[in-house]
Amino acid sequence: MAEKITKVACPTCGKEVEWRPENAFRPFCSQRCKLIDLGAWGNEAYKVPAEHDELQQDAQQQDRNT
Ligand SMILES: [Zn+2]
Repeated sequence: MAEKITKVACPTCGKEVEWRPENAFRPFCSQRCKLIDLGAWGNEAYKVPAEHDELQQDAQQQDRNT
């Protein structure tokens, strides 16, 4: 029986990537795509909702109530 290989789409370029332990850049197809994605996050190309702040405020309010 043939080995089943999981394939994922590279988040940066959409190229099909084989999910193998040998592929250190998974789920990216290459180091380049991985760096592009990390760089995009660092430059705030993606806007991340401030969920963490809201969660922390909720936790603090609960502490005060108890
Ligand atoms: Zn890619």
